[in-house]
Amino acid sequence: MKITEVRLRHLNMDLVAPFTTSFGTFVDKEFILVEVKNGEGLSGWAESVAFSAPWYNEETIKTNWTMLEDFLIPLVLDKEIEHPRDVSDMFSHIRKNNMAKSAIEGAIWDLYAKEKNIPLSMALGGELEKIDVGISIGIQKTVPELLAKIEAGLKDGYKRIKMKIQPGWDVDVIREVRNRYPDIPIMADANSAYRLKDIELLKQLDQFDLMMIEQPLSSDDIVDHATLQAEIKTPICLDESVHSVEDARKALELGSCKIINIKIGRVGGLTEAMKIHELCKERNVPVWCGGMLESGVGRAHNIALTTLDNFTMPGDTAASANYWHQDIIQPEVTVNDGVITVPKAAGIGYEVDYAAVDEFTSYSKRYTNK
Ligand SMILES: [Mg+2]
Repeated sequence: MKITEVRLRHLNMDLVAPFTTSFGTFVDKEFILVEVKNGEGLSGWAESVAFSAPWYNEETIKTNWTMLEDFLIPLVLDKEIEHPRDVSDMFSHIRKNNMAKSAIEGAIWDLYAKEKNIPLSMALGGELEKIDVGISIGIQKTVPELLAKIEAGLKDGYKRIKMKIQPGWDVDVIREVRNRYPDIPIMADANSAYRLKDIELLKQLDQFDLMMIEQPLSSDDIVDHATLQAEIKTPICLDESVHSVEDARKALELGSCKIINIKIGRVGGLTEAMKIHELCKERNVPVWCGGMLESGVGRAHNIALTTLDNFTMPGDTAASANYWHQDIIQPEVTVNDGVITVPKAAGIGYEVDYAAVDEFTSYSKRYTNK
């Protein structure tokens, strides 16, 4: 396959409701939408999940744009690409910048699937036709507000409730949730808000029978997490610390976690995400797919990845309407009783809505060799 044109667009979409994590509150989401075109008029799409500031990892929208423009686009434009799984090797001499790499690699995977006229899920080797999803609830101002959000998520049929925690919004809050809902699957995501000195507090979480605690310690740590995992019963799930299949291998060998959250952007693309999925499957370690407040395009990639068979835990890919007044795909992602039906159309399986894309685009740039 050959990419003859790449178009980057900077979009900004308002969230339906503010979303708060231990690293900040979002009221809208800026992101880069990548479109790659072949000579036959087909387009492949993906988005960068980098935020506007480096809260989650070191990347930002601006650093992604620079990496794409100066380094990554020139490596793929007008080059003969045998298979999209080769793209991550074409980028391997460029360190990190995983979200930038993933944005263009994902668009090439979508284009490949469209050229073959098969769904992206099938191109990845995924077989599940329906996937279970949960909902991720940010830190709320009050416990009654949190309970109301949980109630609404349960009423919509979501398969598990993930709540964000941080110091001051943890043990007592989870206790109230557990008292109200003794049996529902709950997990807590700390986004690196604790340190090993908080071990006594983290041990108290064992009483609540959580599915897991996600990324309690530093965003680049796998050593202290191993110490913590040996001390607590609650399974640790790593998110921020795992950037590659090598990181995953080391974390599993150290005993730093029992579950891995795979985010396509964090690990540099679908190919690396599939390698982590394979490694975890060989070692009987469950995985699930995390969310980054994606638009429908990123959501569609998450859905395709989640059709691989070791995604045995519900992911974060909730319905478009949970996040957006209007999404940029048609139809929007919908969830029925906590289940998404995987689309069967070619590529990401949803049509990109150009009118909506134009409405949310603040600037864009075309790249060709002509
Ligand atoms: Mg997380």
